[in-house]
Amino acid sequence: MSGTDPFVLAVSRVHDGLGFLPDDDYVVVVAEGTVVDLGPRARLLGRYSALPLVDHSGAVLTPGWIDAHVHSTMPGNGRPIEEVAPAPFETRIAVATANLRAHLAGGVTTVRDLGSHLDYLAWSPGPGLMPRVLRYGMPITAERGHMHLFGGALGAARTVTDVARANLAAGADGLKLVASGGGTLGTVPHETTLTSDQIAEAVRLAHAQGKRVTVHALTNGAILAATAAGADGIEHLGFLAADGLSHVQQEALEAAVAAGVVFGSTLGCNEAYLHLSGSNGTVEHDEQSVRTEYYRRNADRVLGAGGRMAVGTDAGWKHTPFGAYVRELQPLAGAGVPAERLLHLATAGNADALGVPGLTGMIRPGHPADLVVIDGVDFAARAPKVVEVVVAGRRLVSSETQW
Ligand SMILES: [Zn+2]
Repeated sequence: MSGTDPFVLAVSRVHDGLGFLPDDDYVVVVAEGTVVDLGPRARLLGRYSALPLVDHSGAVLTPGWIDAHVHSTMPGNGRPIEEVAPAPFETRIAVATANLRAHLAGGVTTVRDLGSHLDYLAWSPGPGLMPRVLRYGMPITAERGHMHLFGGALGAARTVTDVARANLAAGADGLKLVASGGGTLGTVPHETTLTSDQIAEAVRLAHAQGKRVTVHALTNGAILAATAAGADGIEHLGFLAADGLSHVQQEALEAAVAAGVVFGSTLGCNEAYLHLSGSNGTVEHDEQSVRTEYYRRNADRVLGAGGRMAVGTDAGWKHTPFGAYVRELQPLAGAGVPAERLLHLATAGNADALGVPGLTGMIRPGHPADLVVIDGVDFAARAPKVVEVVVAGRRLVSSETQW
């Protein structure tokens, strides 16, 4: 069976991106990159008996997962941006290749890269099977601002228009802006660094091409500025105030929710540090514990207020590894999001948030076949095992030998 041959996948339960289908025991028929049929095993299996059967009876099928926030060219092993950003193109691409393969094996069939160098836009992902990659290019940031090492900093002679146009001309799928400080040395997370007018200029240029804009906005002020500017997304759940602590400003929350702005979750990115052996008792452990706590609390606030949320890991940044998407689903499950909604957010919900609903995120005839099979959905109790991954109709197992 070669990578593109048709096959039949049999499972017990199916979440089609919107919700669980009633009853058990389904088959999905995949051919030429597309789902061509989906229905009860008893009714369909005979009709497709000539095709190879991939039998995962007892398991759960969902659309391939979408990670709305990664940094493909960063290793996620604790090395900071100051160390890894200066690496040559070939080194950064080798890192991205390993990262994307790890994420695919972990069930992620689409990633949105929210911060890399401009040259990353020119790379064709491969060789071997890769997730779909949406790339937002160099983050547009203040002079010496957070993530300036990717090359997207503003300056006396370099405006938002200049950097936005450079990204779009190089093929960026959307634009990322940085409206507050963050984990880059010399920046202050609770300082707002871009004005609403600056963000609005990027929104104007991206929207003119049907592309989205998301904004790293850790402060209430940056959330307000991004919302007023018409941005589509806000990354993280900081709601930081001038004292450096998280105090959700009701006005910022209400404005973002009313505008339908999507919050990128990144609940697991601080927690990643807490999983490391030897991290106990360090200053960073204390800081990351505090952040983990308020991100969870703020996720509750946003969801409770009817806000939209995209599931994103921030993989690559600092200690957040690729291949561990489930670590983002687990804290959301722990925050009370039921499995059915969680799987919707990770698939069709994220596809909507990213503006690519026809590309991926659903299981239905005629839709591209991006699929993941897992051995359970009680995310709060345990991390499920990923037992099958299909992207654009190709099975990961059948392609592994090409690596
Ligand atoms: Zn990030």
